[in-house]
Amino acid sequence: MLPFKVIYHPRYDLNLGAHVFPSQKFRLIYELLLRDGIAAPDDFADPGPASDADLLRVHTPEWIGKLKNGTLTASDIMKLEVPYSPKLAAAVWLAAGGSILAGQLALRDGFACNLSGGFHHAHANHGEGFCAIHDVAVAIRRLQSDGAINKAIVVDTDVHQGNGTAHIFRDDSSVFTLSIHQENNYPAYKPPSDLDLPMDDGVEDEEYLGTLLPAVTRVLSDFCPQILFYVGGADPYTEDQLGGLRLSKSGLKARDKAVFFAARSRGIPVVTTLAGGYARRVEDTVRIHANTILAANEVAGEIPVAHCAAS
Ligand SMILES: [Zn+2]
Repeated sequence: MLPFKVIYHPRYDLNLGAHVFPSQKFRLIYELLLRDGIAAPDDFADPGPASDADLLRVHTPEWIGKLKNGTLTASDIMKLEVPYSPKLAAAVWLAAGGSILAGQLALRDGFACNLSGGFHHAHANHGEGFCAIHDVAVAIRRLQSDGAINKAIVVDTDVHQGNGTAHIFRDDSSVFTLSIHQENNYPAYKPPSDLDLPMDDGVEDEEYLGTLLPAVTRVLSDFCPQILFYVGGADPYTEDQLGGLRLSKSGLKARDKAVFFAARSRGIPVVTTLAGGYARRVEDTVRIHANTILAANEVAGEIPVAHCAAS
């Protein structure tokens, strides 16, 4: 049994059909966690959909209306790069609800893992790059609105820069945005995060970890967030179809573990979300995401829960 909850819903599936985004991965990760005994049935928690009030703290009423009513323009759908369906809308409402629930449970348990989310390309007034609703921003705004936290950090390790996150929080000193990504990749225009760590094509484990970890350690000590939202993309993997870095599976797990260790050793609760993953073999993407849960469990075992010391 895990010392924290894993958030999952059968309707997380984005129902994209044949698409480079393997929208069945949510279910496959859930099944793998159970099959390998990484998680037990009681370790899972069901999210409800985010409320409109939750979404409207981040998104414009116009964009939410388009998603609810299916009135996206051709240009909206071109930017989103996935076909619209009511099932897609339901899935992203649930993903945002899942990240809210994960935030609440992480404040209680020290960790919580949403088996969806990390939709970091979504902007306030439009979707982009498979991301319709910015679940992490929605969760942070909800926790702040509830008075549960003041300061949050987003650590984004997806191979693509977190442009939506950077833009949404551009003038907000209460949220620190950190993105490590392949510079020569989508999105073409990268609005500045509070800290961007651009990687050259073909970077491998050692250089990547040697860049990320000192930066995370320094920022956590300086900024003292009360929660860390981890956008744990599987797409820096060497065999990813949409990524050009060369991280190994063990390097990706070491990445997760080191970020969690840095947070946990400072008493900072951690929420994990999935983000991208487009390996040629979907099993690799699924394994890399499942390893994030394993990494959280290992760090939780190594460092007992400490209350957040940040103010
Ligand atoms: Zn990505």
